[in-house]
Amino acid sequence: MTTPYQHEPFTNFQVEENRRAFEEALNKVEASLGQDYSLVIDGERISTDEKLVSVNPANTNEIIGTVSKANQELADKAIEAASKAFESWRKWDPVARAEILFRAAAKMRRRKHEFSALLVKEAGKPWKEADADTAEAIDFMEYYARQMIALKDGKPVNSREGEINKYIYQPIGVSVVIPPWNFACAIMVGTTVAPLVTGNTVLLKPAEPTPVIAAKFVNLMEEAGLPKGVLNFVPGDPVEIGEYLVDHPKTALISFTGSRAVGTRIYQRAAIVHEGQFHLKRVIAEMGGKDTVVVDKDADLDLAAESILTSAFGFSGQKCSAGSRAVIHQDVYDAVLEKTVQLVKDITVGDPRFQENWMGPVINQKAFDKIMGYIEIGKEEGRLVIGGEGDDSKGYFIQPTIFADVAPDARIMQEEIFGPVVAFCKAKDFDEALEIANNTEYGLTGAVITRNAEHMERAKRDFHVGNLYFNRNCTGAIVGYHPFGGFKMSGTDSKAGGPDYLILHMQAKTISQML
Ligand code: NAP
Repeated sequence: MTTPYQHEPFTNFQVEENRRAFEEALNKVEASLGQDYSLVIDGERISTDEKLVSVNPANTNEIIGTVSKANQELADKAIEAASKAFESWRKWDPVARAEILFRAAAKMRRRKHEFSALLVKEAGKPWKEADADTAEAIDFMEYYARQMIALKDGKPVNSREGEINKYIYQPIGVSVVIPPWNFACAIMVGTTVAPLVTGNTVLLKPAEPTPVIAAKFVNLMEEAGLPKGVLNFVPGDPVEIGEYLVDHPKTALISFTGSRAVGTRIYQRAAIVHEGQFHLKRVIAEMGGKDTVVVDKDADLDLAAESILTSAFGFSGQKCSAGSRAVIHQDVYDAVLEKTVQLVKDITVGDPRFQENWMGPVINQKAFDKIMGYIEIGKEEGRLVIGGEGDDSKGYFIQPTIFADVAPDARIMQEEIFGPVVAFCKAKDFDEALEIANNTEYGLTGAVITRNAEHMERAKRDFHVGNLYFNRNCTGAIVGYHPFGGFKMSGTDSKAGGPDYLILHMQAKTISQML
């Protein structure tokens, strides 16, 4: 009997002992920087000449590690290994597969600070954000393991006299997992272990900025007892390898998390049936967001300001759930803007290696340039109230930035910036606020700060987002508590960390037997 699922607690860094333990983990990670990591195909370590070079976004002189890149020949080899391994892995008792996840979760929990410290260095995450990322990875393993055990005998259907009927779930086949860099541990782990525990085999292509944490996880899964060929590690160029794997006729399932542009491209390509392919590919595509915090006129205004700040600037706004739009009732607009600006003045920006820095860098030069470009657009479209500056001389640092008086259809109100920039927009009443909140192509998360019960009911019905929060920030979904996924162009609404997620990785089979 397993204990009931509960999410992994977050580390309290106010406690001196925890702070010291985390410092030690950072020292340990720093002492091991610069190592080279191989591909893993059928359990074999393969090193290639072409490397991904992972750098610290807070200090671009620091190399986190190098990781071998696969070519198409090696991708083929990995697909073959995964196809072969599928034949035995699919027959494993689901409980035994779940036990591997429990063991992996226990191993990661024991090395929790080490994984989080690596996220600080490789992804530029502040301590708290890194700790939450690792906790979420552990949660995915604990939660999906239990879900698999619950689903192992399928679901009940009716039988009748002379006939016994069963409804069970079976794995699909070779799965290609393509995660983003922003939850470099959590999403990478969650999207990998879901196909694994359901009996599929996996090719994991990590995101370019964060391949080292993925390499560490692949090792950990091996240590937890995963057989050879079940999880293959194939870092590489997104087009040369990513698209090749998506197009491959033996690929049965693609689990992608990332931008709208790449997600829609993958969705389209996966629809093409190639020679020798006897199935339609399943695609899980979780994509971008342009998420809104709505503030009603009778809201707690301090709570509103805090919620906007946390939503907009946590992890430098690099969350799909980031609240990059604040839509505020005209009666309280000035007060909420003023309170938010006051809070933003206290944000410390700097190398997240040091606990006192609340906000770290953005991930790379491309992101830095894109965000700074949007800040220039913002200056045309709104009133720059605070921030607006960036410095990429040592790492990719951008000050938390607020634009006020932005029109609902402005580009900075419509396009995903994925950086520490929030647009404030005034609404004449609650109806208009909801209308503005819904006027993007995305539908991922949203928050409503209000004391009005009738308005809450209206938002439940009419605010078209996959994750709706009241009187809090719109980020920070927890596995098993806030299943996560978006409407509209935010993706396939797979609801990661929820009760329906694993089923997306399996096919249902009806078995009817005459007596
Ligand atoms: P991205 O550029 O779309 O990349 C995501 C993954 O796709 C990476 O592994 C990337 O590889 C790979 N990729 C890129 N081009 C590809 C192609 N043509 N074929 C196959 N794979 C390809 O997104 P990102 O910058 O990593 O992540 C940020 C985005 O993810 C944001 O839009 C954010 O909103 C979204 N996101 C959504 C969720 C959600 O649950 N809805 C969660 C987190 C993030 P390389 O890194 O090697 O290019």
